[in-house]
Amino acid sequence: MRQVKLGLWGPSVSEVCFGSLAISPLQGRVTEGEGTSVLRYALEQGVNWIDTAEIYDNYSQIAEAIKGHEDVRIISKSYSVTAAEMRQSIEKARTALNRDTLDFFLLHEQESALTLKGHSRAWEELLRAKEKGIVRWIGISTHAVAGVRAGALQPGLDVIHPILNYEGLGIIDGTLPEMLEAIAFAAELGIGIYAMKVFGGGHLAHDPEKAVDFVRNISGVQAMALGMSSREEVDYNLRLLAGKDIPTILRDKVRHRERKLYIADWCQGCGRCLEACPQGALELKDLVAVVDAKKCVLCGYCGRVCPHFCLKIV
Ligand code: SF4
Ligand code: SF4
Repeated sequence: MRQVKLGLWGPSVSEVCFGSLAISPLQGRVTEGEGTSVLRYALEQGVNWIDTAEIYDNYSQIAEAIKGHEDVRIISKSYSVTAAEMRQSIEKARTALNRDTLDFFLLHEQESALTLKGHSRAWEELLRAKEKGIVRWIGISTHAVAGVRAGALQPGLDVIHPILNYEGLGIIDGTLPEMLEAIAFAAELGIGIYAMKVFGGGHLAHDPEKAVDFVRNISGVQAMALGMSSREEVDYNLRLLAGKDIPTILRDKVRHRERKLYIADWCQGCGRCLEACPQGALELKDLVAVVDAKKCVLCGYCGRVCPHFCLKIV
């Protein structure tokens, strides 16, 4: 698999990062064991880094899958605000992943300079962890143009994980050209960039070649995280990136089936999921939650806050 260098001073990694949200309990597509087996299979095929997050709640799954693959790099992230919270997040990841040194740790979903300011204590703690050699590279993930711009100027930042696809789906504060401009600015500074939601949360899955080519052709974006929850999806995506023919049988198996957010009819209308949605895709109508499918990128973040387990990606 093609190896890329993540930014000017980042490590060499495979062009595809395994997006482990797809095998996590947050999305509920597969059991823990099935997810472990898919991840292990992807590692055997040459994927050599994994994207996760504290909220995906799948460190133990990853720890199991990477046994025998000690060189695999792992990116995790948390929403920590204070230094103490960040210390806790880092320790949790080190313990659960059985690693003294974490490869990457990011601040999750930073929307703007203001958000980053609000998380400044956590960022300082990340910088200290980097100085001590506990974390090698640090950065942010973001769905926002302003997040990329602010991240680029953040002292000590190594990597940005922005939302990026050819329709600009999921960008919460601007247009695709603006996102590309912000990414170009960050890349110019030597920051490593790996894209998320390349298939727009499934909305662009009808033309996967176009989706992948678009991201690949942006200079300054070195890699992409792809969520995969079956061996067929791994085969499909890796063949796609290698420019190999995809047998019809495989194409039909994977034929990215349309997914959607299912909201159970026992919704109590408490509104918690609305606050958890980074896309503003949920609203209350007649005292129950409804989703705007065009805005929803199927991240599953809403599901974890619902006290009544109403939300599931199906
Ligand atoms: S509605 Fe839920 S799954 Fe869809 S974007 Fe919002 S948080 Fe993510
Ligand atoms: S959090 Fe659950 S119960 Fe509350 S509005 Fe959302 S779906 Fe309904």
